[in-house]
Amino acid sequence: MATLLKGLQWSPSPARLATCHSSRVLDHARSVAFPRTFFLHAPSGFTPSRFGKVLNSRSFSVAKRGGGAVIVRAEGNGGDEAGRGERFTVTTPLYYVNAAPHMGSAYPTIAADALARFQRLQGRDVNFITGTDEHGEKIALAAAAKGRAPKEHCDAVAAEYQLLWKELGIAYDKFIRTTDSHHETLVDEFYKRVEAKGDIYQAKYEGLYCVNCEEYKDEDELIEDLCCPIHRKPCEARNEDNYFFALSKYQQPLEELLSSNPNFVRPSFRMNEVQGWVKEGLRDFSISRAAVEWGIPVPTNPKQTIYVWFDALLGYISALLPEGKEPILTNATERGWPASVHIIGKDILRFHAVYWPAMLMSADLPLPEAVFGHGFLTKDGLKMGKSLGNTIEPRELVSKFGPDSVRYYFLKEIEFGKDGDFSEKRFIEIVNANLANTIGNLLNRTLGLLKKNCDAVIPVDSSSISEENPIRILAAESVSKAKLHYSELDYSSACDIILGIATAGNLYMSEKAPWSLFKEGGSAAEDAAQELTVILEAVRIIAVALSPVVPELCNRIYLQLGFTEADFKSISWNDTQWGGLKSGQVMADAQPIFQRLEVPNAPETQSTPPKKGGKKNDGKKQKGSAKQKADSAVVNASAS
Ligand SMILES: [Zn+2]
Repeated sequence: MATLLKGLQWSPSPARLATCHSSRVLDHARSVAFPRTFFLHAPSGFTPSRFGKVLNSRSFSVAKRGGGAVIVRAEGNGGDEAGRGERFTVTTPLYYVNAAPHMGSAYPTIAADALARFQRLQGRDVNFITGTDEHGEKIALAAAAKGRAPKEHCDAVAAEYQLLWKELGIAYDKFIRTTDSHHETLVDEFYKRVEAKGDIYQAKYEGLYCVNCEEYKDEDELIEDLCCPIHRKPCEARNEDNYFFALSKYQQPLEELLSSNPNFVRPSFRMNEVQGWVKEGLRDFSISRAAVEWGIPVPTNPKQTIYVWFDALLGYISALLPEGKEPILTNATERGWPASVHIIGKDILRFHAVYWPAMLMSADLPLPEAVFGHGFLTKDGLKMGKSLGNTIEPRELVSKFGPDSVRYYFLKEIEFGKDGDFSEKRFIEIVNANLANTIGNLLNRTLGLLKKNCDAVIPVDSSSISEENPIRILAAESVSKAKLHYSELDYSSACDIILGIATAGNLYMSEKAPWSLFKEGGSAAEDAAQELTVILEAVRIIAVALSPVVPELCNRIYLQLGFTEADFKSISWNDTQWGGLKSGQVMADAQPIFQRLEVPNAPETQSTPPKKGGKKNDGKKQKGSAKQKADSAVVNASAS
């Protein structure tokens, strides 16, 4: 395969083909996080169909031909087998430890975990990085407010994050804390590299600062009374001698990066925003603080500390330092850098899509493949806030409803990249309808029939089911679409399409009515047993395909289908292909794989009687919604 590719060149734009290094062709074409359009330049003898085979592109066409060479326009995200063993690095933001983790941190972490799990199923060598951002004025103030030393405060909050990730089933590979000593050493080296490049200089800074953003603000971006538009608190006037990073030197390289690589910022509407900022003209920014003690000292002037963002962004790289290796940048970037995608909130897009690439260019380090900015969450249609008392407490949600429901709701119900809303009512409706009813009941009743009529034994190899079987056809089409959606970080569509297999399975059961075929006996009973195999095979495929989103639930499905936990741990995306169930395999006893969520009871002490539903619901439903209201009142009280 390697020789097939000799002489190939890859580029995101045909104009840049000449400068693209041929050895990076496969790396790029296969490891990109998103299906993207790319251009290949090859000497004569290469035909589009050969590209297609090598790269398993979804589509390709000749864009230009001339002088014996072709330029092929290809779309795809690499092949099935082609991508095996390739590295894939996904990061969450490193979360500020000024307060306990909230839903705004859980949300991107769930998304990153699902992507990491999906890429592991593809056979990729995944580095899933998360962690905490622990320096700066805001943290020092938060610690002081609690009467704790900064490090003691950071230890406590970092531990809360780790606990929440465990409860949510987040299988990260690296948890970096920016107070880790190897990180501090790497920041020191990075700073010196940038300085040696001539990109750091000293100057006076006079301006307005939002401590909560840890960012200097322009007066024209502030709202009334010089308040930060995000935090709605007054910015402070600062006047000090700082070290500056010469961001303006990178104006042209950044413009080129963004125009030649349209997928660098995702979703595409965020790219427009970033290009807008760059077009306004980049200004140098201060990267040190004279008045902040809680930080990494500036190597050339220990009286100042490094600006928290300049320090924290490096965490993505220091997280990759292999255990026991000397903390130097070449060791840290050896495996897993550049990142395939940084998943971040839209509020920190400027840092990741403008500052960070420029910093990396300055330090001569490769740039990440992509930055994905997700939207904000609201609750019951309202902006969340401590002062409003309507935050979503992720630990409470998980302890009440379990990790699968939380993961499922946020990935399925909210289009990743856009703003989304949480309502407990909707939450309970969705997970009950999809997980308990559509998938859970389908498995449960099919297993029940198999036990009653076939001693819980699969009668035929599922591979012997006709290739014309509509469920078999649908399953194959659905998993190939789901794969594409996952690789685009479109979890919502991936869930929809996989759920569609179960919906069709339920209809199929009603149509075939195997229970009556069994009563007929003879060949009708044999047909019925085959139909049960069709459904159980489809549910098995659902369990593999949905496992990035709801791993525990899918593990339970696998166990009921007579597999072991070890079998489930070793699944790959190839197991979404039809044919996994073998004749003679014994199913476990049918048990609900997902307990329907009940709206928890209102506590006895509830003083204000909850309002009645008011709508023409039946009695049962009305009772439910009243209890729900009471319950969310309790959540709010404990959150504030
Ligand atoms: Zn702010």
